[in-house]
Amino acid sequence: MVTRKSRREIEKMRVAGRIVAEVLALVESELRPGVTTGHLDRLAERHIRSSGAVPSFKGYGHRSNPFPASLCVSIDDEVVHGIPGDRAIKPGQIVSIDAGAIYDGWHGDAARTFVVGEPRPDVAKLIDTTRLAMMAGIAAALPGANLGDISAAIEDTAAPGGYGIVRQFVGHGIGTEMHQEPQVPNYRTGVRGLKLAPGICLAIEPMLTLGSGDVEVRSDGWTVATLDGSLAAHFEHTIAVTDNGPEILTTVA
Ligand code: MG
Repeated sequence: MVTRKSRREIEKMRVAGRIVAEVLALVESELRPGVTTGHLDRLAERHIRSSGAVPSFKGYGHRSNPFPASLCVSIDDEVVHGIPGDRAIKPGQIVSIDAGAIYDGWHGDAARTFVVGEPRPDVAKLIDTTRLAMMAGIAAALPGANLGDISAAIEDTAAPGGYGIVRQFVGHGIGTEMHQEPQVPNYRTGVRGLKLAPGICLAIEPMLTLGSGDVEVRSDGWTVATLDGSLAAHFEHTIAVTDNGPEILTTVA
């Protein structure tokens, strides 16, 4: 069931979203060659907890293999769900950071791909196009529009560059759980889908690659990487559909 959030509930999601945005800004300020992914994770967890929130990702999943950290840190051909640890970041790598926080029971979820150093022009273009695809998806989240309009806007931004669109992982509804209905595919599905109305909150998160969109889950049970080894980028915002159009909740503004 798709729930519509009240003004009061969205206010709490705005707080969760602000904390997530602060985490991404903090990580960006610390991102340089030699820094370990575990260090970034510890900074993120400290910021989330000192803000009165709880990390969404830590302990998420099946109890046989819960996600062990507060950030997902995915490098180069890793698309999403990379586990932070002892790995040190190298010059020229692209690093996708996904952060989630729960404030008073309400979730915020956002991600961004960063470059460490100077990117190759094609890599810079991949990252920029992924961000633009997310923004096009957000712009389509108008009251009265359909879920399929978001998917189409994302696909139409990604397709001209020939980028691979990851289809196995999609955006999602969000609220008292990190993942709620509906799913938000980053490609046309052939159906118009749910009619959007004020109070519907979504995490819109395209994942694009320089190769094919096919991915595999690595042996740690979490890390999702491209099957062909191509570089991948990932951007995500949590938004609310309002009477006035989409509102980005995962922002410091
Ligand atoms: Mg998400």
